[in-house]
Amino acid sequence: MKTTVSLPADTHIHTALCRHAQGMPLDYVRVALSKGVPEICVTDHAPAPDGYDAENRMALEDFPLYVEAVAEAARAFPGQVKLGIEADYYPGCEAYLSRFLASAPFDLVLGSVHFIGDWGFDHPATLGRWREADIRQVWSDYFDLICRMAKMRHFDAVAHIDLPKKFGYRLPDPELRELIAPALDVVAEAGMALELNTSGRRKPVGESYPSLSVLRLARERRIPLLFGSDAHAPSETGDGFAEAVSLAREAGYDSTVRFEKRKPIPFPL
Ligand code: ZN
Ligand code: FE
Ligand code: FE
Ligand code: ZN
Repeated sequence: MKTTVSLPADTHIHTALCRHAQGMPLDYVRVALSKGVPEICVTDHAPAPDGYDAENRMALEDFPLYVEAVAEAARAFPGQVKLGIEADYYPGCEAYLSRFLASAPFDLVLGSVHFIGDWGFDHPATLGRWREADIRQVWSDYFDLICRMAKMRHFDAVAHIDLPKKFGYRLPDPELRELIAPALDVVAEAGMALELNTSGRRKPVGESYPSLSVLRLARERRIPLLFGSDAHAPSETGDGFAEAVSLAREAGYDSTVRFEKRKPIPFPL
């Protein structure tokens, strides 16, 4: 019987530089260590100079400040703070993103999809569009974008892969599995990892991304798993990790990964 739970690294952390989060890397790593989370990877929203979702990301001019703030925390806690970024995939991002991702020594690049066309479907301000939407079509369009993102081969892991459930607009589980299976095939083929993101617990849906049945499909495909709180305030660091470890074990995972220089490093669960 296991008496101690060793928590995994928290590889999804935001900072005040994105304009909708609080705190800086030093604040987050201190909370992580106090909760028994041994490492953080800071992954703030990447700048997008083309104006994409401009109010929710750091300005390109602030990027050097970001790199320095992560380095400052890494000097204070050597080996326990990694430099990452959460990069959105959207059609047209390719040329800029490939240059941007080569501009810093990232440990981890999280890939995510937050927009379908001009609709930021996880923004509470646009919730009205969900009420009129064809739910299955939204999910189907979303997974098409996840496939395009994976095929780009610029991302190490897919963040919150069932994000459209955030406000409770879910598909029946068999339909979800039917739509997500081909996307997971592409993720596996691209050698990407999948994130178990606990922030959904703090949202109307009330559970982590993804759900247990999706984790099982990922496990069947031998997709490595990493853990993220998607903290937008230092106190959210490592949120729900003990429960997330149980969920991962229930899905058949006995190890997780953290990233260093964009390579997955296994860690037993
Ligand atoms: Zn955010
Ligand atoms: Fe995100
Ligand atoms: Fe995030
Ligand atoms: Zn996120």
